[in-house]
Amino acid sequence: MKLNRFIPLILLVIVAASTSSASAALTAHARGRIFVLMVWDGLRYDLVNQHDTPNLYALEHEGVSFPDHHAIFPTVTMANAAAIATGYTPGGSGIFGDGFYVPSAIAALGPKAPAKAMVKGINLENTPVMISLNQPAILDGTLVEAMGIGQRVRLAHGYVAVSGKSGPTFMFDSNDFTAAGGRNSNCNLIVDDLALGPAQLKTFGPPPPKTAPGLFYGARDAWYTDALIDQLPSAIAASNRGHPALLVLWERNPDCTQHRDGLGTEEALEALSRDDQNLGRLRIAINTRHIADRTDLMVVSDHGFVTLRDALWVSDLLVAAGLKKSRESTDVVAVGDQGSELIYLSKTAFPSLAARKERLQKIVNFVSAQPWSGPIFSRDEEPRFAAHGVEGWIAGTFDDRVVGLNGSRRAPDLIISMRENSDESNSSLTGPDQPAFLIGPKGRMPAKNHSDALVRPIIGTIDADASDKFTTGMGAHGAIGRREIHNFCAAVGPDFRRHFVDPYPTGNTDVAPTIAHVLGLRPPHTVNSSGWAGRVMSEALVRGSHHHTLAKPMTIVERRDLPPFSIETRLLFTSFDGHRYLDDARIERHPLPDLQPIKSSAPSP
Ligand SMILES: [Zn+2]
Repeated sequence: MKLNRFIPLILLVIVAASTSSASAALTAHARGRIFVLMVWDGLRYDLVNQHDTPNLYALEHEGVSFPDHHAIFPTVTMANAAAIATGYTPGGSGIFGDGFYVPSAIAALGPKAPAKAMVKGINLENTPVMISLNQPAILDGTLVEAMGIGQRVRLAHGYVAVSGKSGPTFMFDSNDFTAAGGRNSNCNLIVDDLALGPAQLKTFGPPPPKTAPGLFYGARDAWYTDALIDQLPSAIAASNRGHPALLVLWERNPDCTQHRDGLGTEEALEALSRDDQNLGRLRIAINTRHIADRTDLMVVSDHGFVTLRDALWVSDLLVAAGLKKSRESTDVVAVGDQGSELIYLSKTAFPSLAARKERLQKIVNFVSAQPWSGPIFSRDEEPRFAAHGVEGWIAGTFDDRVVGLNGSRRAPDLIISMRENSDESNSSLTGPDQPAFLIGPKGRMPAKNHSDALVRPIIGTIDADASDKFTTGMGAHGAIGRREIHNFCAAVGPDFRRHFVDPYPTGNTDVAPTIAHVLGLRPPHTVNSSGWAGRVMSEALVRGSHHHTLAKPMTIVERRDLPPFSIETRLLFTSFDGHRYLDDARIERHPLPDLQPIKSSAPSP
C-alpha cells in the first residue's frame, strides 16, 4: 500500500522537472506494449542468410539472435505450438503430437469424430475438431491443459489476434476461441477453416486455395499476413488505452513445401523467400504506423527439418511381428507422426499391469532391434520412482519424465523417436530420378520418388513413419536429433537488446514466459504437477538480468544387452539456470542390425 502511494509522487517529480524526453517517456510508459510473434513453420536455423531471407537476416542482426534455440520432443508442430503458446512441455500442456488419442474423448465425440480415429488417432490441425474436443463434456473443457499466452493477455484486458495455420493458432487462447464464437471483440482468430471475431472474412474474402497459382500455400500465407496487418489499428487502440496487445502470425511455409517437394529444392527456397517478403511487409506496416517504439517482434520456428530416407509404417511392422492384431485393431494403437510414434495399449485388451508390461517389453525389444529406431521413452505405471528417474518402466527405455512428457493421464505408453542421421546429405535422396524405398514386413522394397529436383543439398535424414503421400526425398521431422531439435529464433523491438547474440541456450518453452514478462503479465508457474515451463530470456532483454551461471552439458546413458545386440543410447542436454534443454540423441548398436524379413515372435492376445 505504502509503495503504491509513493508512485504517483515520483511520477509527478519527473513531470515537474519536465523536459520533452521525460514526458515522452511517460507517454510511452502509459501505452501498452504490442508483441508480434511470427512463426515460420519448420524453418531450419541454418537456412537463414542474406541472400535467401534478407529481411530475417537483417532482423536477427539488428536485434537479438538466439543461435542455440531448441524445439521440444516430439519435434512436431502441435506439441511445439503448445510449448510456444503455453510455455509448457507436453506433460504440462497435454499435447503430445499432431495426433491425439484418448479413446473416451473420441467415443464422446460420436459422429463428429473423424473416420478411423479409434484406430489411428485424431489429427489436431483442424479448428472445428479442436473446438469439439474442447467442449465441457469431452475433456472437462481442457483440451489444452495449460493456459495460452493469448488468454493471459485477455485476462489483463488486452487485445489478441491470431492468424495463420489451423491447429497451432488455436493453442494461444483455446478457451476464448471455443467460447467466444465471434462475439468477443478482443479475441480474433483468422485461420484456414474458421474466422472468429469482428475481423471476420468480409475484409479479405475466403482464404485462397492451397494450390492457388504459384507456390504451394504461398497465396494463403500472404492472406494470413494481410489479415494480421489489418489487426494493427485495433492493437494500437488497445495500446493507447494502456492495455497490452498480442498478435500471432503462423505461416504454413516453409514446412508444407519442404514436406511436399523436399529440402533444398527450388520450391522450398521459394517458400523461404515468400515468408521473408511477408516479414518485410509486416515490418513496413509497423514502421509506417509509427509504433516501432512500442512493438516487439519475434520470429521463431516450431521445429527443424530433415529429409525422409525410407518410408515405413510402424503399425504394419507391429502386426507382422505378432505384436498387434491387425491394421484396424485397437489392442495396440500406433499413432505415427513421421519422426515420432506414440504407442497406446488398450486397457480392455490388457487389463492387468503384468500383461501390459509384458506386451510393452516385447514392443520395445522389437523396435530396439530395428536400424531406424532411436531413443524410446516409457510412462511409469508403477510409481517406483519417488524422485525423477532416468531408467524407464520398460527395460531399454528412458523414463518419459526426462523429456517432460510425464504424468498426464493422456500420455502414451511409449514414445519412440526415429534415428536421425544428422550428417547424411539428401543429395542422393531428393529428386524424381533418385531411387526410393519403403521398409515393410518383407524388408526394404523399391518405391517411387515423388520429390522435386534438388538445387542445394541439405544434411540430415531419417527413416520415418509416413503416410502414402510421402516418399524418399521429401521432408520430414518429429525425432530427436540436432537438425530437428535446433530451430530458429530472433527478436527486435524496444524490450530487446540491439546487435546481441544470446550466448545461452533458449527454447520454445521460453517464448510464452518472455512474452508474459515483456507485456507485464503473470508468467506460467515454473513447474506444474506434470510438466515444466520455460524461463524468461532475460539476458536478451534491455531491462533483464544479465548475470547467469554457466550453461553445462549433461548426458544420460542407457546401455542394454539384447542378444545378438548391445545397444547404447545417449541423450545430450544443456542445463542452464535450473532448466534443461534437450540437444541431441545418439544410438549405437553392435553389431549393426540389417533389415530382415520380420518373423512373428509373439502370439496375438
Ligand atoms: Zn510445424
